[in-house]
This record gives sequence, C-alpha cells and structure tokens, in this order.
Amino acid sequence: MDQIQATLSKDFIRAIIEEDLKNNKNKGRVATRFPPEPNGYLHIGHAKSVCLNFGIAAQYGGTCNLRLDDTDPSGENLEYVESIKSDVRWLGFDWGDRIFFASDYFEQLYQYAVQLIEEGKAYVCSLSAEEIRKYRGTLIEPGKDSPNRNRAVEENLEMFERMRAGEFDEGAHVLRAKIDMASPNVTMRDPVLYRIKKEPHYRAGSKWCIYPMYDFAHCLSDSLEGITHSICTLEFENNRPLYDWILDELQVNCHPQQIEFARLNLSYTILSKRRLIELVEKGYVTGWDDPRMPTIAGMRRRGYPPEAIRTFCERIGVAKNDSIVDVALLEHCLREDLNERAPRVMGVLNPLRVVIDNYPESQVEELDCPYHPKNSATGSRKVPFSQVLYIERDDFLETPPKKFYRLAPGREVRLRYGYFIKGVDVLKDPQTGEVAEVHCTYDPETRSGFAPDGRKVEATIHWVSAAHSLPAEVRLYDRLFQVANPLGEKEGSDFTNYLNPKSLEILKTCRVEPSLAGAAPGSRYQFERQGYFCVDPIDSADKTLVFNRTVALRDSWAKIAGQEKK
Ligand code: ATP
Ligand code: MG
Repeated sequence: MDQIQATLSKDFIRAIIEEDLKNNKNKGRVATRFPPEPNGYLHIGHAKSVCLNFGIAAQYGGTCNLRLDDTDPSGENLEYVESIKSDVRWLGFDWGDRIFFASDYFEQLYQYAVQLIEEGKAYVCSLSAEEIRKYRGTLIEPGKDSPNRNRAVEENLEMFERMRAGEFDEGAHVLRAKIDMASPNVTMRDPVLYRIKKEPHYRAGSKWCIYPMYDFAHCLSDSLEGITHSICTLEFENNRPLYDWILDELQVNCHPQQIEFARLNLSYTILSKRRLIELVEKGYVTGWDDPRMPTIAGMRRRGYPPEAIRTFCERIGVAKNDSIVDVALLEHCLREDLNERAPRVMGVLNPLRVVIDNYPESQVEELDCPYHPKNSATGSRKVPFSQVLYIERDDFLETPPKKFYRLAPGREVRLRYGYFIKGVDVLKDPQTGEVAEVHCTYDPETRSGFAPDGRKVEATIHWVSAAHSLPAEVRLYDRLFQVANPLGEKEGSDFTNYLNPKSLEILKTCRVEPSLAGAAPGSRYQFERQGYFCVDPIDSADKTLVFNRTVALRDSWAKIAGQEKK
C-alpha cells in the first residue's frame, strides 16, 4: 500500500526540480539522461530509471539523453547497445537525436586529466592494486599517502603520456586524484581516475590502452552534455563529493546536480546484470530474452505490454531507502492492463476428448463469441461447434468429490457460449486406465446458454471443436527463483541454488480455436479461465503456434493489498 500511496504525493526528485524551476536555476532548463553501460541487457530496474529520466524530461518540457556509458571495454559490445536502444524505444521513449557515447569523449576526458595533473591535482601512482587498497585505510582508520603522491608535475605529465602510448603493462601505474587520504569518506582518498587496460574497445578500437574510471567519466560526460539533474541510484551517494570535486576543480561551465534514489529490487528475481549474465552464460535460461528473465527483452517476449511496465514504475514511486517490491504488484499491473485490452479466446491446455452422442455427426454450427465481455467495440468471432470437442482434462472427474462442480457422469455443465452438456460414460485407455474419451449428451434447447425450464448449472467450461481446432504449444512460466530474496539467503550461498526447477513447463498437445490461425507474433490474448498468453515472437510459425503464458488470472496482489488495509 505504501507503494501505491507514494504516487499520490509528488516524489522528492520532482520536488527538487520544481523548486529549481521556481528559482530559475539552470535558466529554467531540465536536462536528464539515462546512462546504461552496454555490458548486458536492460532489466526492469533499468526501466524504473528510464521512466524516471524520460518521464521527468517530458513532464517539465526538458530533454533526456540516451547515453551509452561505455568507458570500460571489458564486456561491452554492439549487441548490447542495440538491445538497449530497442528496449528503451519499446518502453515508449524517444531520445530523438540525443544519443551519446561516453567513448566519444575519451580525448576530452584525457585533456581534463592532463589539466588536473598540471594543476597539481592528480598524479601517477605506481603502487599495485593490492597496495593501493592497503594504503587506502578503512572506515575507522585514515589512509596512507602513496610514495608517488608528490611526484613532480612534469614527471606526472610525461608518465601519463607514456601510459597512453602503451609503454607500460597493465597495473604498472594508475592516475589518481590528489584529494585527501584522511577523508572520512573513503571514496575521496585519492581515487583512481585512469587505469591501463590493453583491451580493444568495441567502438574506439585499439586507439586507447588507458580508460577512465566511472567516477571520472560520468560527471564529465554529464557536464559535457549540459545535464542539469544527474539522477542515479543510492549506491553512488558516497561518490557525490567526488562528482562535485572533479567538476569544481576543473571549473567546468556546467555542473549538474547528482540526486540519488533507491534502486528497484523485485522479489523472486535478481536485478543485477552481472548475475543475469551468469544465468545466460551457464545456460540456466535460454538467453537474455528468456520469458522468465526480468529483462525488458524477456518481459516483451513473455507478453508484457510496455504500458503495464510503465504503470508499475509509476506505482512503485521514487524513494530514498532501499526495499524489495513484491512481484505480485507487477503482476497486478499486468493483469489490470491485459484485462482491458486482451481479446478473449478459447484454448485447451490439456485436452480431453468429448463426444456428444446425440449431436448430428456431420453438423457444424458457428457460434458467435464476443472478444471482450465489456467492450463490444472489439467485436466477435465465429467459433465452430461440432460433435467431438476437447475440454480441459481437469474439468472432468469420473468419480468426483461432492464439491466438484464441473463435468462428471450424470452432471451437467455449460459450454462457454453454447449448450449444456451432461456426462454419460467414459472410455478408458486400456493400457493406462486413464480416461481417454467422455461421452455426453447435449440439450438442443440450451444454445443461448440458458435452459428454457430455468434449471441451473454450476460451471461453465471452455472447449474447442476437435476437428476445427489448431494444435499449439504452450509454455507456462513460474517464478525464476523459489525464494523471495535469492541474494539474501544464507551467507556465502550461491544464488543459483535457489533457482526454481519448475519455472518452465512446456505443454505440446494443446488445442486452440481456429480464429487463432496466423495470429501475429507477439499478439496477446486471454485464454478463458487460463490466463493471458502471447504468441511467441520467435518460435511461433504459421504451422506451429507457440504461446507464452504471460500471467495466470488469479491476482494475489489484490488479496495482499486487502489484508494490509485491515
Ligand atoms: P546492474 O547492477 O544491473 O549491473 P548497473 O547500475 O551497473 O546495474 P547501469 O547500466 O550502470 O547498470 O545502469 C544504468 C542506469 O540504470 C543507472 O543510472 C542506474 O543507476 C540505473 N539502474 C540500474 N539498476 C537499477 C535498479 N535496479 N533500479 C533503478 N535503477 C537502476
Ligand atoms: Mg554500472
């Protein structure tokens, strides 16, 4: 409930921006950016940041840049750049021509570093990474000066140039800011600004063998792009003084304000590119777009409408303290959206053959079935009805308990949009003893769905005509992890231990109504009584329809929210 209420009041970031606008700070300009590193696909956590940055720009008549923060060649590539672009676009945001690459600033960043050296504010340090760590001190002990801290400016300049020229091995030297080894903020203890990395960059090629660190590149990229509000996640709070220090020391024209907000954590999944890569690389999932993944690509393939994701991001709001959002809220937003837009159709996941003994063998009726119960504008389609049908296997029991209201010998049910049928007899598979076929009779007087004598039935079940229905494969997804917080379980245990072995169930013998022939890849439907499904955009072809279940119908969020209200 807190999460829903958060949207009722303006979030603290928008409050800051409105105050700035009131004071004509930045001459009334609002410029944000979304700065992903192209070292993985975007996930729903990134969506929160996308919605926030692009949303604020739109709301206040500002601009939002898409900036690829590609300053570390390891793990970055073009595939990730393209996926980021397509995911942001799919979420519904448009950067126009405002796409930027931090790697395009390498030369300028280098010149800024030279400027710091010249002013005696940066030096080349030759300690090893291990020594640098030791010299840094701890939260309760101050650090110790590097023996190179007072290297002469000339020597620093020369060494930095030679670092760039590739004369040294990786790890031999780094460039560090000269700030304060006794600062209570460990980040300010002469942070590393540049390191040697003899790795080609996917855009810059082998032009560089030194690369700027995030803290150096990020604030300056923001500044070069004229960003006014640099919105990032809470883990950068301790880096803010460094962000400001670099911009102040270099006396740049534009000094954006860094504002931190709580990152999104979602139950039963993980939102960390590093760990998602592990799932992909070790084959725990089929790829970045596996419908179980919390990635935008995975959610898109699973059938999430972008609107539902945006609504979710709005509802969770923006806060200053970390928390884990219940995935049931995301699913609630999804159902709310799909309930409005998804046409209803019938699909049988576990078919059981039903023969209506008193229905003429060669007769076929076309039943008119509306696509949406509330929205008549979406029209209707004809669904063929004939003597042999398929119904859901668990809608029938040969010897039902008292409270079973669906089909059974001697029990009558309504077929959705059609007749009443009554169970008569069963045929069994001689080998397995399983019910193979149910024989029924129908009441020709009940085509309207009601009996003229006013008798009632307890259940309405979905069905398809055996001869007219289409074969389909259906993939049912469950949560990727068995526990709500896979990273917060036992100390030292591997998060992959908590993967849900039942997160995917593939049903290969499903039957769907013929109106779904040629259904467009990615199109979404409600299969009555079964949930929301979408046509898998990759594996579905004309002859073999493949559906992903986006989400089942039952909404646990409404229940949770209801309990909290009490
Ligand atoms: P990860 O931990 O998944 O690797 P990251 O922060 O390293 O994420 P970036 O590509 O650097 O990924 O993130 C781009 C932007 O998205 C940053 O501004 C970052 O703060 C934001 N972001 C990343 N994860 C989340 C999250 N879970 N919730 C909200 N914003 C996020
Ligand atoms: Mg990052």
